[in-house]
Amino acid sequence: MNSIPYIDIHAHHIKNLKDTITVQNIYPGEGFAAFNGRNFYSAGLHPWHIKSSDKNNAELIMIEEVLEYDQVIFVGECGLDKKVEGNYEEQKRVFEAHAFLAEKHKKPLIIHCVKAFNEVVELHKNIHPQMPWIMHGYNGNIQITKQLEKMGILFSFGKNLFKLDSKAVASYKYLPIEKIFFETDEYFGEVKKMYIQGAKLKNMSLEILKKAVWGNFNRLENKSTGLF
Ligand SMILES: [Zn+2]
Repeated sequence: MNSIPYIDIHAHHIKNLKDTITVQNIYPGEGFAAFNGRNFYSAGLHPWHIKSSDKNNAELIMIEEVLEYDQVIFVGECGLDKKVEGNYEEQKRVFEAHAFLAEKHKKPLIIHCVKAFNEVVELHKNIHPQMPWIMHGYNGNIQITKQLEKMGILFSFGKNLFKLDSKAVASYKYLPIEKIFFETDEYFGEVKKMYIQGAKLKNMSLEILKKAVWGNFNRLENKSTGLF
């Protein structure tokens, strides 16, 4: 029996590690590799790449096309970023469109959120999604974490786990392991590093943590039609 793999729930760089399952992000129009048992994908329009509504709509159509593939298991990354200048209303519209695609295609949503947690909460309340929502690169404070947790939202942690005074570390320590994932995002190294730090912060063994996150990943499957 093979040992339990690491899960890298959100990556921007190709990883080909025997012990890791990766969900790599692809942008509209980008291709992806044939399935090797460990390479999954997410497809979405990042809030940093919002354009005119015509162009955004064309890209949303491209995203919907790749959602037909079983290997593309998440919708996103998508979301809201108040640090981005420009049309915030259009950002919101595009994010909402992703949330609807997630419901329609029965795939979890992977979310980029900067200074817009209240809007995410509001949209979640309006939509009542059946699909899990995962906040990636999570760095919210305990108060917002409690609010999101109550709504059933899941959390992915990356490099901020190494900043011991960060909101991410405080929230990570607070959350039950059933609600967490790890990610490399822009980092070129292995997600194993985040797991090791995560085990230290929770004062638990790496094996128990790996098993829990593997279980979390498999539970996403129950709510979606993806291959996993
Ligand atoms: Zn990302």
